[in-house]
Amino acid sequence: MLMEELARKDDQQSNLLAMQMEALYRGAPASAMSIFGGVLTILTYWSPSLAPMLTIWFGCICVIAITHLSSAAMRPEFMLQRRFKLDWSPAAWSRLIRAVYLSSGTCWGLGGSWLLLQGDDHQTLVMCCIAMGAVTVTYPAVVYRPVFNLFQVPIFLAFSIAFMISDIEYGNLLAVASATLCAALAIIARSMGEQLSMAFRLLDRNRQLTEQLAARRLILEEENRELTAQTLTDPLTGLANRRRLIEFLRRTPDRCAVLVVDIDHFKSYNDTYGHSEGDICLILVADALRRSIDASVDLVARHGGEEFVVVLTELDRDQALEVAEKIRTNIQSVAGLHPQRIRRLVTASIGLAHREEERQKSSSELLVEADSALYAAKNAGRNRVETLSDTHPAAAE
Ligand code: GH3
Ligand code: MG
Ligand code: MG
Repeated sequence: MLMEELARKDDQQSNLLAMQMEALYRGAPASAMSIFGGVLTILTYWSPSLAPMLTIWFGCICVIAITHLSSAAMRPEFMLQRRFKLDWSPAAWSRLIRAVYLSSGTCWGLGGSWLLLQGDDHQTLVMCCIAMGAVTVTYPAVVYRPVFNLFQVPIFLAFSIAFMISDIEYGNLLAVASATLCAALAIIARSMGEQLSMAFRLLDRNRQLTEQLAARRLILEEENRELTAQTLTDPLTGLANRRRLIEFLRRTPDRCAVLVVDIDHFKSYNDTYGHSEGDICLILVADALRRSIDASVDLVARHGGEEFVVVLTELDRDQALEVAEKIRTNIQSVAGLHPQRIRRLVTASIGLAHREEERQKSSSELLVEADSALYAAKNAGRNRVETLSDTHPAAAE
């Protein structure tokens, strides 16, 4: 339990860090401002004697800014081409970005304070404005407070020292002001950073809950589908049940045929071989029925006991009689196909009712008529197809 709790905390920390890194890297293009600030500084302090140092300092700024921009371009969420993708952990990204911000802050702090010591009052003022501008541009980095402080603390500390040792007027006062500003920024960054972290945590929790909800909905939908299927299926044979049959009959086209199929002398089969052998027989007869129809338009249902109902659509009377005859012979051949599972010849009698158009008779009238035809088939000696309106020749016995 404790381990699970720790693992969950670890996960949350890692998610938070990942979000902080993503937000930080989205602001990476701002690091190009460093190069712009460097150009302004060089223009302010340009003199041939400072040129070598200025070039080295500017070169360092460019390397840091380009490292930042190119690492941002290689983050998976910004990647278009997979070839240069860097799939690092959030912790690895955090180490890289801390190094970038620390080196950038140190570079600006050391270079800037060195220039302050070289320049006149006017140049000092320009340098302070540039430094303030840089810190302002970097302020969104409070999203991950350590990097913001790694940038601003070296700048203001170096400036404080430079003001202190320089012979600028009010140098000590400026040094205190610079150190105070540094502390104030650190305090503000702390409270802002905490609020942003809280917002990220809520965002992450929200995402998790949405995912859980979606997963639960999928399970419920699946269970619902299964339940619906169960309420419409006969558990023994897997055929449609009476409920599904009634539903199907409601939507049956005008031209259709209803067949009531009843296994002959099934009671004696059951009494002789036992109920479970009877069940096997019912399953195999159901398979034979399934094989005899076109499942995409027709339906075969277990009406109850050893009685099945087949609904055929869009067939004329003669075609329906042909299918009925096929059903009868397919049931008759079940014993031959499964000698190990069927104990003796099994036959069925079939009553057929046909409708040419809706006004002729309702679906329930069709069922009643097919039932009467079945009765006629039983009376005529079984293992045959009968219809009421004309006497179809008895099937070959
Ligand atoms: P007929 O040729 O006139 O149809 O005679 P029959 O014996 O087939 O008809 P009857 O209605 O007398 O008997 C039906 C038998 O079907 C009675 C019952 O034991 C059996 N039966 C009904 N449902 C099931 C079932 O789910 N499993 C098994 N094994 N037998 C069943
Ligand atoms: Mg029967
Ligand atoms: Mg019966």
